[in-house]
Amino acid sequence: MAEKAEKKKAEAYKPPKKLCPKCGRRMAIHSDRMACGYCSYTEWEKKG
Ligand SMILES: [Zn+2]
Repeated sequence: MAEKAEKKKAEAYKPPKKLCPKCGRRMAIHSDRMACGYCSYTEWEKKG
C-alpha cells in the first residue's frame, strides 16, 4: 500500500507554558530557567 507521508511543518520550538507554583501566574521562559516576574520565583532547567 502506498501511503503518503504527511508533511509536517517544522514549527518553531515552543516550550510548554509553565505556571508559577507560588502565585499561579505565567512564568517567563528563558533558555536555562523559568522565572516568575511577579514573585521572582525561579526554576532552573533540569539536565540529566
Ligand atoms: Zn510567581
